Amino acid sequence: MIGTVRTAGAVLTIDLDAIVDNWRMLRAQVAPAECAAVVKADAYGLGVAEVAPALTQTGCRTFFVATIDEGITLRSLLGPAPSIPEAVSDADDAASIYVLNGLIAGCEDDLIANRLQPVLNSLGEIDAWTAAARRLGQPLPAAIHVDTGMSRLGLPAGELAAVAAAPDRLSGLRLTAVLSHLACADEVAHPLNAGQLVRFREALTRLPPARASLANSSGIFLGPAYHGQLVRPGVALYGGSPRADQASPMRSVVRLDARILQVREIDEGISVGYGATHQSARRERIATVAVGYADGYLRSLSNRGTGYIGNRLVPLVGRVSMDLITFDVSDLPEDEVRPGRPIELIGPHLPVDSVAHNAGTIAYEILTALGARYHRVYARSDR
Ligand SMILES: *Cc1c(COP(=O)(O)O)cnc(C)c1O
Repeated sequence: MIGTVRTAGAVLTIDLDAIVDNWRMLRAQVAPAECAAVVKADAYGLGVAEVAPALTQTGCRTFFVATIDEGITLRSLLGPAPSIPEAVSDADDAASIYVLNGLIAGCEDDLIANRLQPVLNSLGEIDAWTAAARRLGQPLPAAIHVDTGMSRLGLPAGELAAVAAAPDRLSGLRLTAVLSHLACADEVAHPLNAGQLVRFREALTRLPPARASLANSSGIFLGPAYHGQLVRPGVALYGGSPRADQASPMRSVVRLDARILQVREIDEGISVGYGATHQSARRERIATVAVGYADGYLRSLSNRGTGYIGNRLVPLVGRVSMDLITFDVSDLPEDEVRPGRPIELIGPHLPVDSVAHNAGTIAYEILTALGARYHRVYARSDR
C-alpha cells in the first residue's frame, strides 16, 4: 500500500460492502443457478486480496481468473491448497478456481498443486490434461470452453465434433462445467445473443453432463434462459453497468478523490499544458491536481474530463500529463477551491461508466487502469 491519506496525491476508496451487495443481488437474480465471481486482473484493478476474501465470507464458492499465476495468488489468499491426492478430490469445501486462459503446456503440476481447474480451450489442452490425470492415476477436474461466436478461445465446431465422435478422449477428465462466452450481451437486441444460445445448447448435448455457464454480467440481464447453472459476473460486481442502454442497477464501488496542488489566475489568451491545447477565453482560474496518465487517468480525457468540487462540476482543460491535470474553476467561489482541497474524479457525481464515456472507452478499462500511486482505502462495515 502506497502512502497515507495525508501524503498521497489522490485517495481511491473501494467500497467492499457495495461489491458484496452487488454479488448478493446477482445471486438472488439468478437463483437457483450458482453465482461465481470473476476476479481476473486483480479483481478488475480493485485488489483481489481484499475482494476475494470479502466474497468468500459472503458465500461465493467459485472464482474465475485469467492466468495460472492469478490462480496461484488467489489460492494462497483463500487458504493453502490441500495436498495431493486430496488436492483433486471434493473432500473439503474449498473454493473452486477456474483459469480462463486454460492450460499452458508443461504447467499441469502447477495447476494440480494449487488445485486450479483449467478451462480447457482446445483439443490439445484436453489431451494434455487427461494425460496428466493418467500419470496421476486419478481423474482431474476441469471445464471445457466451446466457441459459439467469439473466435478467440474455446473449441471450434470441428474440435467439438471430434470430441463428440470420440468421447474416450475425455476419460480421466472430471468435467465440472461447460462454458461459452457472449460477444454482444450488453446489446439486448443483438441477434448474436440468441444465436450463441442455440449453439451453446447444441454443444451441451454433445458433451458429458456438467454445469452450463454462458453469462457474464450482461448475460445475466438477458434473462434466465442465459443463466444455465453457473453465471460469471465481473464488471457488475465492481459497479460497472451491465446494460449499455440503461442506468446501472448496481451499487457504485469506486471513489477517486484527488488533491488540488495549486490554483492560479491566468489572463485571457494564455495556454494551459502540453501542446497548448487550451487557450483561456477570458481570465480563468486554473486548479492543478495531482493525478495523471501514470495513474491510469487516461490521456484521452484531455479537454474532455470532468471533476466535482462539492456539488459543482468543473471541466478539465488542457492535456492530461503524466502526474498532473488542470481544471477550469473560474465559476466557483475562490474560498471553495484551495490547495489541499479534494476534487472528485470518480464517485457519486461521476460514475465509472460516465468517466469511461468521456474517455471514449468502457468501465472495464478505467477500472483495470486505476493506478498504483493512489492511496487505497477499503471501506467495510463490521457485519
Ligand atoms: C472477463 C470474463 C467474464 C466476466 O465478464 P464481465 O463482462 O466483466 O461480467 C466472464 N467470462 C469470461 C470468459 C471472461 O473472460
